[in-house]
Amino acid sequence: MKSYLKHYIDGAWVDSEGGTRHAVIDPSTEQPVSEITLGTQADVDKAVAAAKKAFASFSQTSVAERVALLERVIEEYKARIPDLAAATSEEMGAPIGFAQAAQVPAGLGYFLGTLKALQEFDFSEQVGKNRVVHEPLGVVAMITPWNWPLNQICAKVAPALAVGDTMILKPSEEAPGCAVILAEIMDKAGVPAGVFNLVNGDGPGVGAALSTHKDVDMVSFTGSTRAGIAVATAAAATVKRVHQELGGKAPNLVLQGADLATVLPPTVSGVLANSGQSCIAPTRLLVHSSQVADATAVVKTMMEATKVDAASVMGAHIGPVVNKAQFEKIQDLIQSAIDEGATLVTGGTGRPDGRNAGFFVKPTLLADVTPDMRIYREETFGPVATISSYDDAEQAIEMANDTVYGLSAAISGDPAEAAKIAPKLRAGLVTINAWAGGGGTPFGGYKQSGNGREGGKYGLVDFMELKTIVGEPA
Ligand code: NAD
Repeated sequence: MKSYLKHYIDGAWVDSEGGTRHAVIDPSTEQPVSEITLGTQADVDKAVAAAKKAFASFSQTSVAERVALLERVIEEYKARIPDLAAATSEEMGAPIGFAQAAQVPAGLGYFLGTLKALQEFDFSEQVGKNRVVHEPLGVVAMITPWNWPLNQICAKVAPALAVGDTMILKPSEEAPGCAVILAEIMDKAGVPAGVFNLVNGDGPGVGAALSTHKDVDMVSFTGSTRAGIAVATAAAATVKRVHQELGGKAPNLVLQGADLATVLPPTVSGVLANSGQSCIAPTRLLVHSSQVADATAVVKTMMEATKVDAASVMGAHIGPVVNKAQFEKIQDLIQSAIDEGATLVTGGTGRPDGRNAGFFVKPTLLADVTPDMRIYREETFGPVATISSYDDAEQAIEMANDTVYGLSAAISGDPAEAAKIAPKLRAGLVTINAWAGGGGTPFGGYKQSGNGREGGKYGLVDFMELKTIVGEPA
């Protein structure tokens, strides 16, 4: 078992003041794989003080200095790809091949995209006789989830470093190993002491302490809408900026007459990749009533062709879901759909045949799902797709938007027709015959999926303040 018992504060690995040990469970085996210390208010105070002190000088560094720093971080990150993939795979259950090919490169992609955005960004703008400047925001607390752990961490750390903020990262207690390795990368790359700090812990402890802290200027949060609301509520008294990247329940609007065998695989694969644990997984298929039988057949074949195996096995299978709570939530949602009248086409509750341990979920398809069912409305976060039917395009758009979430929406079908529908969908990301993509563009949600944007130049803007200067000499 790997031990990551220290926090990284002010450029050094330090013991926690009064923290408790927490075992991280490998979801393939249900056995402990690593351990961390859940930090305390005292640990948070120390990290925030270090970040506040470092801000005085780091905020004044030049763009050229920060470009050089990001380049060094990128080199060190590349050197640690195998370690980052192993830690991610063991702790959150992504198959090792997927961790190497997708999870870890996604984090690197944020550093590369941010570097490019920084090199092109104009920090100063003339508005009439006045000047408007983008400045570093201050001390940023970052609270991140386990599902794409490095992706979500790097989406925050990269822009904060790029613009001259200092930071305290609290990664998910379900997948902290890659964050510890990232701290080693920061150290090796020569990030100045106090600029990047890592305090491990859980939500009610370290997460809440960061959200309420008077010397934290911004909380950048990625996770569930439930916890995002708790963070915003806790942060309100100190009027800090709260940047939220929250849950989703993406539709997959299948256009009438679409060639299903061609357009469904690239969108429905988003329900299977990462065992369905992606905030943008397009789980709600909306299909014209004339094509429901055909769509059901195509998706059933995809589900049944998907193999489920341990994260340590190399191959194109999907792994377990992250933990027992998540496994049980998915079982409950599948059962609720059946109880509410949906048709189980394939998969269902219980582990796949031959597995009596590990949080493995059967790839599942439910048909005859209607908007009043829980599974239509609640985020499933498992390899479970649903099919609902519509009769005309207007109804399809209404059904796509009939959710409290607004993170992403997929459209399957003729791209020219899809492009006409894209402006009518209330979501921060619309993908046509795909479920992900858009590197370098802003990523974030409408409605209860959040209010922040990450990636590219808009990601930089979200981590900065704006200042107007009046009366400068011409
Ligand atoms: P979660 O909300 O349970 O936890 C996320 C983080 O918040 C963890 O670090 C956790 O320790 C912390 N936390 C929990 N309660 C807290 C509290 N009261 N105060 C402060 N911090 C608290 O989410 P999760 O299960 O780790 O991740 C899955 C969720 O994340 C899904 O809803 C998914 O859609 C969402 N997500 C969103 C995006 C996005 O960019 N919009 C990306 C990935 C995941």
